[in-house]
Order: sequence, then structure tokens, then C-alpha cells
Amino acid sequence: MKAALLTIHTLLLMYLARAQNTTSIQQYEQQLKKAYPDQISGIKDNYVIFRNGTRIIFDDGKEKTLAELYAHPDIEDQLKATYTKGKTPNPAEGDDPGRIRNDTFFKTMYGATPAEVQKNLVTITWLPKTVKQHLKVSRINGVDKKMQAISDELEKLPAHLLPYVQQVAGTFTWRVIKGTDRLSTHSFGITMDINTRYSNYWQWDNKTTDESKKIPNYINRIPQEIVDIFEKHGFIWGGKWYHYDTMHFEYRPELMVD
Ligand SMILES: [Zn+2]
Repeated sequence: MKAALLTIHTLLLMYLARAQNTTSIQQYEQQLKKAYPDQISGIKDNYVIFRNGTRIIFDDGKEKTLAELYAHPDIEDQLKATYTKGKTPNPAEGDDPGRIRNDTFFKTMYGATPAEVQKNLVTITWLPKTVKQHLKVSRINGVDKKMQAISDELEKLPAHLLPYVQQVAGTFTWRVIKGTDRLSTHSFGITMDINTRYSNYWQWDNKTTDESKKIPNYINRIPQEIVDIFEKHGFIWGGKWYHYDTMHFEYRPELMVD
């Protein structure tokens, strides 16, 4: 009898563990499908299935150090980041929501080479009533339309907030993140650096490129009103990273779960 009870208990625990696991994969699947309906059809047999036929492993089952998470994340690692919209406290040590990125995921959607990405770049007119800056951004996932909508809302802000978003420093450049061999999302035309004059970057303020070091200074001068507009359209802000980059906004709707 005791043995039988024990077996039932064990089975129940196994069932619960599996149920929990299934729920979270289903949640991740919903998250991906909602964020990228034109690109991703679902998760099947531990693979993320793209509509173009590409399959990327969802969970590689490996335990990773922080350095390994940056270098070789699977999709599960990428989605684990919890990005919170709106005003948040200064980021805690090691908290970089959205900085863990699986290269193949972005290459599959936006292009695997500069030429492939460029085929899908279109020109938008940033702040058309005041600044009229021409910027190249991807049309995939409607990123161009979202950037244009952000531009429209920014132009309605009080005039003293506009200098932060004038003289946009860059959108598309195929390049790696300084101090690493990881591709920056600037390579995909889904990212914008706003005016560097009012921006702060962990590497500049702390005189290091070493991601494993403690960062004593967190500095931000970008007003929340600007961050709110970008977030509303699915863009995460680099000011919410321990490795902060306050000029940097990138399109990451999969992390914007309400
Ligand atoms: Zn940037």
C-alpha cells in the first residue's frame, strides 16, 4: 500500500512537472506568434518553426554561464528576459532584458547578409514637420510603419523634448557590438540610436568594454516620455540594461508581453 501511494505520489509530481513545462512552452509559443504573426507559425518538437521553412532549436538543454548566454543563447534563453514597460528602477547587476539574442532568429527574419537585409530596407522621413531626416529601416514586420508612427507621436511632444530625438545617430549598419564578436541589431534595420549628445553608454562612462566587470555608474538623461512612445510600438530601450545604452531602441515585440 505504501509503495503504491509512493508511486502515485511520484507519478503526480512527474505529471505536474511536465504540465508546468508544457504551459511555459505554450506561453512562449503564443508570445512568438503574437509578436511575429507573418514570420513564425509555432513551436513543434522543440523547434521554432518559421513560415519560410527555417527551424531553430527552442531549448538546447544546456546550462550556461552569463558569458555563454550572450554568446550562444537558444530561443528559450532569449525569451526568458522579462522586459517591463514604463518607468522602472535602475537595472540590477546582470539584468539586461533583450540583450541575450539568438543571431539565427534575427537573420532568418531580416536577412543573413548585409545584401539580404538591404533588399528589405526602405527610407522613412523622421520627424517630417521639423527635422526631415531620411533613415533606412526594415519593412519586415512593419518596422518602417512602426518607426513612422513613433515619429508622428514624438512630433506632438512639447518642444523641449525634441532635441533628444533630433540628429538620430543611426539605424542600419552591419556591425558587431564593440568589444564582442556578436552582431548588433543595427545590422538588421530594426534599431535606432537617438541623439548621442544626450545619451550615455556603459562603456563610455565606465571606461571598460569588459561585460564581466561590475559597472559602478548608471547614468541616464533620456526623458521617460520618449521611452514610453517607443515601447508602445514594440521597441525595447537600452536604458533598462545593466550594460546601459540610453540612445538605443530596438524592435523586440516578443518581449513586450502585457
Ligand atoms: Zn544602438
